[in-house]
Amino acid sequence: MTASDPPNAPEDQSLETDAGTDAGSDLGSDVGRVPERESSPGQLSMPGWLPPPQEVTGSSKGPQSKAERDRADGSGSASADQDEPVALAAVAVPLPLPEPLTYSVPAALRPWVMPGVRVRVRVGKRKLVGVVMELPAEAPEGVRLRPLEEVVDDDPVLSPELLELARFTADYYFAPPGEVIRALLPSDLPGGGERRLRLTDAGALALPSSEVESQVVELLRESSSLSISELRQRLPVPELGAVIEELIRRKRVAASGSAGLGGRMKTAYDLAPGELEAHIEGAGRSPQGRAVIRTLADLARPATAAELTGAVGCTTAVLRRLVKKGILRSFTQMERISLSRHRLGGEGRPDFELRPDQAKAVTAVEEALAERRYAPFLLQGMTGSGKTEVYLRAVEATLAQDRSSILLVPEIALVPALAGAVRQRFGDQLALLHSSLGASERRQEWQRIRAGDARVVLGPRSAILAPVRDLGLVVVDEEQDSAYKQDVTPRYHGRDLALVRARHSNAAVLLVSATPSLETRLNAQRQRFGSLTLTARAGHGALPDPILVDLKQEDVPRKPGEVILSIDLRQEIEATVGEGSQVILLRNRRGYSPVLLCRACGEDFRCDDCGLARTYHRKEHQLVCHYCGSAVPAPSVCPSCESDALDPIGTGTERLEEQFREMFPGVSVDVLDRDAVRRPGGAAAVLERFRAGGTQVLIGTQMVAKGHHFPNVALAGVLSADTYLGFPDFRAVERTYNLLVQLAGRAGRGDRPGRVVLQTYHPQHYAIQAALHHDDEAFATEELRFRRMFHYPPYTRLVQLLSRDTDRRRAHQRLRDLADAIYRHPLSQRVRITGPAPAAFEKLRGKWRFQLLLRGPSHKDLHQLLRDVLPEAQDSGLVVDVDPQDLM
Ligand code: ADP
Ligand code: ZN
Ligand code: ZN
Repeated sequence: MTASDPPNAPEDQSLETDAGTDAGSDLGSDVGRVPERESSPGQLSMPGWLPPPQEVTGSSKGPQSKAERDRADGSGSASADQDEPVALAAVAVPLPLPEPLTYSVPAALRPWVMPGVRVRVRVGKRKLVGVVMELPAEAPEGVRLRPLEEVVDDDPVLSPELLELARFTADYYFAPPGEVIRALLPSDLPGGGERRLRLTDAGALALPSSEVESQVVELLRESSSLSISELRQRLPVPELGAVIEELIRRKRVAASGSAGLGGRMKTAYDLAPGELEAHIEGAGRSPQGRAVIRTLADLARPATAAELTGAVGCTTAVLRRLVKKGILRSFTQMERISLSRHRLGGEGRPDFELRPDQAKAVTAVEEALAERRYAPFLLQGMTGSGKTEVYLRAVEATLAQDRSSILLVPEIALVPALAGAVRQRFGDQLALLHSSLGASERRQEWQRIRAGDARVVLGPRSAILAPVRDLGLVVVDEEQDSAYKQDVTPRYHGRDLALVRARHSNAAVLLVSATPSLETRLNAQRQRFGSLTLTARAGHGALPDPILVDLKQEDVPRKPGEVILSIDLRQEIEATVGEGSQVILLRNRRGYSPVLLCRACGEDFRCDDCGLARTYHRKEHQLVCHYCGSAVPAPSVCPSCESDALDPIGTGTERLEEQFREMFPGVSVDVLDRDAVRRPGGAAAVLERFRAGGTQVLIGTQMVAKGHHFPNVALAGVLSADTYLGFPDFRAVERTYNLLVQLAGRAGRGDRPGRVVLQTYHPQHYAIQAALHHDDEAFATEELRFRRMFHYPPYTRLVQLLSRDTDRRRAHQRLRDLADAIYRHPLSQRVRITGPAPAAFEKLRGKWRFQLLLRGPSHKDLHQLLRDVLPEAQDSGLVVDVDPQDLM
């Protein structure tokens, strides 16, 4: 196994990176990359392929204790400092480098430098903020060491547990560590070194007990306040940190902000030490000045400029004048975090008893929590079987143990009802990481989580990176959803990281689904995951009656690609609307028609950049490329032949809505798709109208199939169950099946049984038959057979190498070279290699695309092989996608 690792670290780390990366700026916290590829691939292991949990000590205890810190940097034992000639730090910087960079640590900074702390370093001519990943004993060979410039934080911003997760992610997904770290931290995290110190009255009077202390006191006496980093610069001695901590503890020095990671910095004012009467006298004839002094005296705490000017009705000039006179002093303090607080949960919990199958599932989680062991479970049950209730109670059980839970959902905007329910139940303890949060709200939530104030985190895949304390449970709702895979670097899978993180934290995991991914099914079959199955359907209990419409038999003349409302479906709609119930219709294409075709010359208006037909959007009068988003005005005559015989071919949601209105005048209808999301109010408005009964029929793309709970929906119709079946992706069948089952789950959730109509050209297909007959076993068996026969996941591990280039030949050549190197490698005999071949979308956004697929029996081999053959320098034209979800 001595296939020597490519020395990924650049020879001279003072490399000039002119690569116009967005990472460049000297940002407060956009940080760099994780270190070492040194962990052997044996340590990297993914769900189900995992060796028994390793001991990870202190991983879940939140920020390090002082003692741990002392151990980490050796400052606790003087000997370490003397024996070690140079202290080193491996720093992940926000550049696309495969390894962290190594720096020497100046003696004065040593006490502050520990893993997880942000530091400012020089890279080439620039100064960047990076995160210390570790304190290596030796520098990589041939590296010219430069010193760290500055320490940004007083305490690590990343816990050992999160650093470990970052390392794993960088390694496993071949992501630059810097990009991983960037994903872990809020973008505007203020530095702890910005924490400001000022002398208290007690401190001004007390006798300093050491030389350093007296120097600190002197410096603080000279200026009204100093930041810790300013102090560090003026007093570069190793014991500074300890001295400051001691001064703060003895209340001789006041530090603004709590942990140094508070909110935004604001200027605040306080009375200078001295008699109130003397101050008032000192204010002279200014009634406003006197009012300011009285206000501050009444408040008995510092106040912001806004508070004071508001209370007194003066301008800030008054405040500044008082500062100049030495009556007030000003300093910077953390703005108080003021999130709207909610009542603590409890009321939100419904009062019904759990059914035995539900109770059993909750008990299984409770047992794992009590034993503090890693325990992954598949929680499977059809829509409405009470899965949500089970995992919410599991979260309650976790809270009762004073541990934290992370609750992942594929897309939070599509489950406003869930967010509401979770908020009601967990109130104050909840942190909601909504994708629409602004940077500062996100940071506040991040800080509440980090401080342990919020112990339940609800969010999309990135929430798995939240800095929770003592993780006890991760719930991954709709675990099969491909939205859990991030499609930009780092290309991690939220569900898989959930398993990895839970293993490190000895936490329980609930993978929740009505239609689990094949990966998860196989893991459950092989008993790597516990199986918790809910059999009954809560409420009315009846399953929807399915009706299959064979579109080949429909006796309606239609144009190619046209989607129709069959007679059966029309009758069902009529009946349902007639009895006052609601209808959901799925048409998985947005826009008016997928193609606008010139009948005279065949022009079909392809996107120049993507080579695919643009979708016709009639209301907006545009032709939109759905792959790159570019739009052009829709022509009224053909620009090639000037004929006006332009024909929309096929049906999207917009056209379906139009047809529907013609067919059912007077029935209210609404559309939910990506276009609707962009309109004012977005998805939430459409969903809310439908929930309230304001619309009778909801047409939409697969967005309508997601976990909504509409008690009054009695009919779900699929215009074409075949949309995905023909896609050149081995998961196409799985997607079809999942979508159909999910949609069927929307109907009949109230007290009436629902109906489902599936229109298809492939009535005998096993996915459609299984969905029709609620035969989940049959689907799983058949699909697993197919995967095994053709060596697809979950029976193999898959890596996609995608090459993109404006030049077609170059795109191809890059992969040909790579394929050659792979074939020469001894491990290639254990790997199945497909390609290089044009990707399904051969041209996208102006770039030609080729792919090379590697399949191997274990991730370990693939990883080793790739590590050996991938170019050392990051190649922006090459995408490495480990466990890809989308092969198009
Ligand atoms: P799922 O997540 O499987 O779709 P939910 O947990 O949302 O199912 O449950 C569906 C409905 O049934 C919800 O309204 C829920 O409150 C209710 N429910 C769940 N468990 C029970 C139970 N044990 N008794 C009565 N109602 C229940
Ligand atoms: Zn034409
Ligand atoms: Zn395009």
